[in-house]
Amino acid sequence: MHRLIPAVLSIAFALPHATARSQRSTPANRTGLSQAISRPNIVLITADDLGYADVGVQGAKDIPTPNIDRIAREGARFTNAYAASPLCSPSRAGLLTGRYPQRWGHEFNPGPTKSDSAFGLPSTEPTLAERLKAVGYTTGLVGKWHLGYRAQTTPTYRGFDEFYGFLGATHRYRSDGDQRMGPMVRGTKLVSESLDITDAFAREAVSFVKANATKPFFLYLAFNAVHVPLMPDAPRLGRMSSIKDPERRRYAATVVAMDEAIGAVLSVLDKERLTGRTIVLFASDNGGAALSTKSSNGALSGVKGQLLEGGVRVPFLVRWPGTVKPGTAVQATVSALDVAPTVTALAGVPAVGPSFDGVDLAPVVRGSSAGSPERTLYWRVGTTWAIRKGSWKLIKFNDGSPRLYDLSTDVAERHDLAAKRRDVVAALRKEWERWSSRMQPPKWGKEGWMGVLTPET
Ligand code: CA
Repeated sequence: MHRLIPAVLSIAFALPHATARSQRSTPANRTGLSQAISRPNIVLITADDLGYADVGVQGAKDIPTPNIDRIAREGARFTNAYAASPLCSPSRAGLLTGRYPQRWGHEFNPGPTKSDSAFGLPSTEPTLAERLKAVGYTTGLVGKWHLGYRAQTTPTYRGFDEFYGFLGATHRYRSDGDQRMGPMVRGTKLVSESLDITDAFAREAVSFVKANATKPFFLYLAFNAVHVPLMPDAPRLGRMSSIKDPERRRYAATVVAMDEAIGAVLSVLDKERLTGRTIVLFASDNGGAALSTKSSNGALSGVKGQLLEGGVRVPFLVRWPGTVKPGTAVQATVSALDVAPTVTALAGVPAVGPSFDGVDLAPVVRGSSAGSPERTLYWRVGTTWAIRKGSWKLIKFNDGSPRLYDLSTDVAERHDLAAKRRDVVAALRKEWERWSSRMQPPKWGKEGWMGVLTPET
């Protein structure tokens, strides 16, 4: 997949880089700008493949993450929060649109095949950046995109005024010996980078905040940490010397680099006196990739790519000064699909275009609602699928019958209740089938290694 990027970028260069800029001058946007003074800034931070239990506030004892922990201490931690998909690209598609990505066939990551030339977020699906830009926000993406390589599907054509990062699934953290880090992209131009990638993202995020301190902004800071290939720097690796397992130590040092980058963003918000009017959200795009890293999903079964909790339940933190009571733990079932509806409601974005599948979390984070006890979430990855409703979770692997778990007593999904509660199985299956019938078949990618493991793995 990585090999495709330079070819695609050459197409991007051939097209004018004017779409994002020209939208600023529409009358609607000028109106938005005048109204935008009181609008909060949005900083949406995503980790890549972070284990569920790999930051302090989630229970990690061996990895210091004071800055991520600070977001939770000063805001809310959601304990039943889910990604839209256990895979990178569809997860990000759900996050940025607030809609099930299967609605447009975005069920898999793209593969390096000809049939994947269709890959990319379609223009009919507005991104959160486009929605916020329409009411006057300045928008920036720092980090990983993974929602399209063709020019019209790249960040500066999908609502981001600024982009610094890379388009694909993964990227080397630095040049190392004969292996080059590979170019980064600024806007639509390839540029070289001398810092380690996570430190470079910190620099860019801080710069974006400083440059836009006097106007409402949306910063999407999408780390590739802690996705492989892990390439921790020597100083941070040295600071993790108390961890005996060398692979866990490498992983921990990578988490620490991300935490420090997040600290730099929180610090510049403080320095610019923006903390009080900036909502900071933090989540992982999917669960820990425990087959390729020494990540830990704690008590959860399963890994990235699976629909067991370890693949889709993610750390999810929201700091919202004046609205979220510091140190709040929220048990309501929530989804990354809720981010776009929540943020747009708060920013006063008119409800235009396709409707959200997620919900506005404002009543939940304000404490005025415990959330719907019947909140239902759906997943489908090829022949595997799952539905969560209330505390029930029905999960179908690519072989055998669906298994039923009561997550209120069995978060590890160890005790299959399907034989005992055939009524619940039938009802949830019917509900999932109704949802699935409204989705499109996959338009790219294919079922790979993920999803085939059993709960015991
Ligand atoms: Ca990921």
